[in-house]
Amino acid sequence: METQTTKFLIIGGGPGGYVAAIRAGQLGIATTLVEGEQLGGTCLNIGCIPSKALIHAADAFHQASSFAGKTPLGIQVDVPRIDVAQTVRWKDSVVRRLTGGVAALLKKNGVNVIKGWARVVDGKTVEVVPSGSGAASEPLRITCEHLLLATGSTEVALPGIPLGGRVISSTQALSPTAIPKRLLVVGAGYIGLELGIVYRKLGAEVTVVEALERILPLYDDELVKPVSASLRKLGVQLHLGCKVQGLNVAGDAVRILDTQGKESELSADQVLVAIGRTPRTQGWGLESLLLDMNGRAVKVDDQCRTSMRNVWAIGDLTGEPMLAHRAMAQGDMVAEIIAGHKHRFAPNAIAAVCFTDPEIVAAGLSPQQAEHAGLDCIHASFPFAANGRAMTLEASDGFVRVVARRDNHLIVGWQAVGVGVSELSTAFSQSLEMGACLEDIAGTIHAHPTLGEAVHEAALRALGRALHI
Ligand code: FAD
Ligand code: NAD
Repeated sequence: METQTTKFLIIGGGPGGYVAAIRAGQLGIATTLVEGEQLGGTCLNIGCIPSKALIHAADAFHQASSFAGKTPLGIQVDVPRIDVAQTVRWKDSVVRRLTGGVAALLKKNGVNVIKGWARVVDGKTVEVVPSGSGAASEPLRITCEHLLLATGSTEVALPGIPLGGRVISSTQALSPTAIPKRLLVVGAGYIGLELGIVYRKLGAEVTVVEALERILPLYDDELVKPVSASLRKLGVQLHLGCKVQGLNVAGDAVRILDTQGKESELSADQVLVAIGRTPRTQGWGLESLLLDMNGRAVKVDDQCRTSMRNVWAIGDLTGEPMLAHRAMAQGDMVAEIIAGHKHRFAPNAIAAVCFTDPEIVAAGLSPQQAEHAGLDCIHASFPFAANGRAMTLEASDGFVRVVARRDNHLIVGWQAVGVGVSELSTAFSQSLEMGACLEDIAGTIHAHPTLGEAVHEAALRALGRALHI
């Protein structure tokens, strides 16, 4: 068996692994990256990017469809049609451009990329079985000084409803050949609602079944309210507090049980299972390392070191929050530590964005979380109904909220819900990371007319001197 030696060996070319590799290459570390499928991992191929591409396409189609009626804007079009195969080709072209870009960046930074499935032999040795076309045919042994585990996560299947046939995961939902007449979504979390809304806007009748009594349990009630209202307006049916029991005998309906113990059936042409993701710990020899675990995730410290010396882990493999930007930040950090820099993963906040209609963003603590943390805080909201830019965009639902300590006005959290608020996450994260106080935001000139003025006004309002409300 051919053997190669490298200083830094990375398993997994998702946002965690590929960023670690690029940064290590920039820092002059001899780096090898092993990827079994496609560079870019879940995020670029079957996650963040394709889902946001389809959200955009569905929004555009939905808006065009709304122009077929009488609109306040005076735009009128004939009933639009959508060529779903072309939409998927466009989405794939976006994905290809980005994954091609990652390959080019890795090459430019001197990273040795190996296409194949890695299997851990020990903390310094990995065997790779080549995969895909153009791959070397012989297995390969690679020894290293530092091993980075970045194998990501996989979807959780529902017991009793294996994936296959009409039961699909987000991966299949992101590459539809046709839009089903009736889509049943299991789980009202990120994927269920982002993709449920896409399918509804593309014409499917969508029903969402959620085990809890509410949607998007990660976000507080006030933030979620405008999304619930939008789901109602779109005609998405919600069954809250219902557990899926299995398929019926004919296999064309899902059996659900509500909290009162009442069983019923919901028919569906397709069932999208979106009940969470789990760290990818199986099938590649992880168990041979006997690492300390944190539930199903690999346990790491604040430098992403595992319990074995010079074995590191990042991204979804290390558990929640399973977000691409967290994986990237961890990958960047590990490369820098290996290069001798002093670094630790201690962000003040990792913003979470839900790309529903309207979007939700949360960074840092909500008022309730601040209270639970024992902080004495003030909070204030500014509604988009009083924001000029929001009105010009026909997007006056939602608000921006700030949470700050009462004693010194240090901002500890930002939340927003509304059209396009995902872009406010940058301002929120920067303010939290730089330790801004309400007065810093109040004293900053915010360009007019922008949605960002609501950020300014929320801070002013918390100080008792909002101008536009
Ligand atoms: P991954 O991206 O999962 O990459 C792991 C890589 O390792 C994969 O390419 C895999 O093939 C490879 N691999 C695994 N085992 C081996 C092995 N033994 N040998 C070789 N290679 C191996 N996050 C956001 O922040 N924003 C979003 O909008 C967002 N949207 C999402 C939408 C969907 C539908 C999904 C499913 C996820 C979404 N996420 C989003 C989550 C995001 O995709 C993940 O948090 C992120 O991809 C995790 O990065 P990672 O590097 O840890 O793992
Ligand atoms: P999720 O954890 O966001 O939501 C899963 C939902 O399914 C929860 O509301 C849960 O209560 C419900 N559920 C669980 N078991 C159920 C059952 N048996 N019947 C009915 N409902 C059930 O998970 P997801 O939507 O699958 O997304 C997986 C992960 O992917 C997320 O946690 C996130 O880390 C990542 N993601 C992020 C984004 C983003 O950042 N915008 C988008 C998509 C996915």
